[in-house]
Amino acid sequence: MPAKAYALIPAAGFGSRVGAAVPKQYLEIAGRPLLYYSLAALARHPRIEQVFVVLAQRDDRFKRGDWREFGARIEPLYCGGETRAASVFNGLLAARDTVGGSDWVLVHDAARPCLGRDELDRLFGELEGDETGGLLAVPVADTLKRVNREARVAATEPRDGLWLAQTPQMFRYRLLIEALRAADPAVATDEARAVEGLGLKPKLVMGDARNIKVTFPEDLALAELILASRNAGTAKKGKKNNTEPPRAPSTPREKSTKSKR
Ligand code: C5P
Repeated sequence: MPAKAYALIPAAGFGSRVGAAVPKQYLEIAGRPLLYYSLAALARHPRIEQVFVVLAQRDDRFKRGDWREFGARIEPLYCGGETRAASVFNGLLAARDTVGGSDWVLVHDAARPCLGRDELDRLFGELEGDETGGLLAVPVADTLKRVNREARVAATEPRDGLWLAQTPQMFRYRLLIEALRAADPAVATDEARAVEGLGLKPKLVMGDARNIKVTFPEDLALAELILASRNAGTAKKGKKNNTEPPRAPSTPREKSTKSKR
């Protein structure tokens, strides 16, 4: 029997680069916060038992959202830390009574709402039997320029063998907690970096360029387009995907006439 798999979403950041008063995980697309889409992609995958959402200790927005469709498949943990690495570490500690040492944990940014079912299937397909674990990533497509202080090109860097790390990043619980405990949070900007710090080599699994991270204001409009096109594509194929058409939060009346999973 394969090990169980859980997801953990660090959602305790403020996201100042996006320039909004609201933490970016709560910025909305079609009436739903970014966090909703990231969470839905994971909670609807049949391999994932439960999704832990790590929130800032003083978060007062999560409880205002409507998460009923996910039932007990999501669990908020109010234990966010100073850095992303600290939030993930605290979340892992808080989940220790549920998650076993050799169970998989998929860590996924709240700010990546366009994660597709195919990428998740590839992660499980390629990593399930792997000793170390790994992450979604895409090869660098653009030419890379190193810049000097005058914003002029100092050098053109070879892009051979360079990939952009995405999330989810999938590692076994015991390894991840050991790696994060040993890591310098300023250096470990993702889980893979912490695992590399133990001398291990996480595997890169082909991601999708549409799995963008919302960082700047213009990314929000792009994410909305991607979500809409993914859903349109799915509707054409006549198959259920992990994202529903963007919609406003349902009213009690809608709830009584429509059954949602
Ligand atoms: O700011 P950045 O885009 O790197 O954040 C990536 C993810 O880490 C976001 O989902 C954010 O909410 C989360 N984070 C966190 N705790 C922090 C900083 C970031 O959970 N202290």
